[in-house]
Amino acid sequence: MTTTDLMSSEQIISLAKKHLTANYTRYPVALVRGSNSWVWDAEGNRYLDFFPGWGCGILGHCPPRVVQAVQEQVATLIHVPNTWYTEPQTLLGQALGDRTDFGGVSFFCNSGTEANEAAIKLARLNGKPKNKYKIVTLTGSFHGRTMGSLTATAQPKYHVGVEPMLPGFNYATFGDLESVVKAVDGETCAIMLESIQGEGGVNIAPPGFLEGLRELCDKQGLLLILDEVQTGIGRTGKWYAYQHWNIKPDIVTLAKALAGGVAMGAMVAKSDVAEKLKPGTHAATFGGNPLAARAALATIETIEQDGLLARAVQIGERFLQRFLGLKEKRPLITAVRVKGAMIGVELSVEGAPVVQGCLEKGLLINCTHQTVLRLLPALTLSDEQIEDGCDIIGDVLLNLRS
Ligand SMILES: *Cc1c(COP(=O)(O)O)cnc(C)c1O
Repeated sequence: MTTTDLMSSEQIISLAKKHLTANYTRYPVALVRGSNSWVWDAEGNRYLDFFPGWGCGILGHCPPRVVQAVQEQVATLIHVPNTWYTEPQTLLGQALGDRTDFGGVSFFCNSGTEANEAAIKLARLNGKPKNKYKIVTLTGSFHGRTMGSLTATAQPKYHVGVEPMLPGFNYATFGDLESVVKAVDGETCAIMLESIQGEGGVNIAPPGFLEGLRELCDKQGLLLILDEVQTGIGRTGKWYAYQHWNIKPDIVTLAKALAGGVAMGAMVAKSDVAEKLKPGTHAATFGGNPLAARAALATIETIEQDGLLARAVQIGERFLQRFLGLKEKRPLITAVRVKGAMIGVELSVEGAPVVQGCLEKGLLINCTHQTVLRLLPALTLSDEQIEDGCDIIGDVLLNLRS
């Protein structure tokens, strides 16, 4: 495939500046195609992608089985409303539910924030008979950009300019069980959190925290909602990240990796909790459409058949070893946090110049919370690609110091 009939990056960028809202910080590169962990720009330059699709590309770019499933489905039935049953949506509900340890039932939507809105509504519906509507969320969390999920996001910087926020959210400190206990009152219906905070800087729940929250929820009759939009579908080496701990949530939300790069979100809930979603209470027009559902089924099938949960663990170990090695030689690295293919490298300086330096050397990475380099690589990444990419990051960090 040639790129000669496409616009140049420069042409695309100048047109975009005229016609698109300016709400994203974009690099001056227009991407045109991708394959696995490689992606190409309009000029034909190739980049190694350690952050494919912002965590959505769990199988890399254009994974063959997802491509084939979508190609078949797009010519068969693209979209029908949820007034009808479809086989792909039904089989996907089964696949997601079977992989929870609580026989979860699924509601489908199109994004992470939408999945969390569904969870917030379901928690309130469950609390209604007892007039309980408040939800406790945690510092450093990220739950999405629509008003409910945004209010749940306990980071004031995201609220600036769009207040007032939704009533009924109390904030507690991530990792501090006592602060959660204090934030719960007689009107609380749920606690909502990420077991591993992604946007917050790859912060892994400390030992005992999730178990303590589960106990608290059981004692007070609260629902435990886990936002697995970033951690779900094999990212951490388990189908759901909560499976690293000895707990079961009442509700899990999914999106990013769910359909291998195709837009889809889901809320998976215990059936006695989900019961409250009766006709008329909630809906999503595009939710669970056959196209996205087939993409998700192909994603799950690929992870399963290719043993990619185990591969996620190996990838994590390899990155951990590389970054711990680098940490010895690069004092700029202050901490390395890894769970499967979810990798955070904390720096003592701003990470943006590192991202820029890597881009110039043909490697795509991310920086979150100003100082944390974040990698969410494809589970199909090879050892050689890990080594090559880490060499680049090491070089860039070395040159930063001088
Ligand atoms: C990305 C993300 C969201 C928001 O997902 P969108 O699809 O952008 O709405 C919510 N929660 C977590 C944990 C995320 O990482």
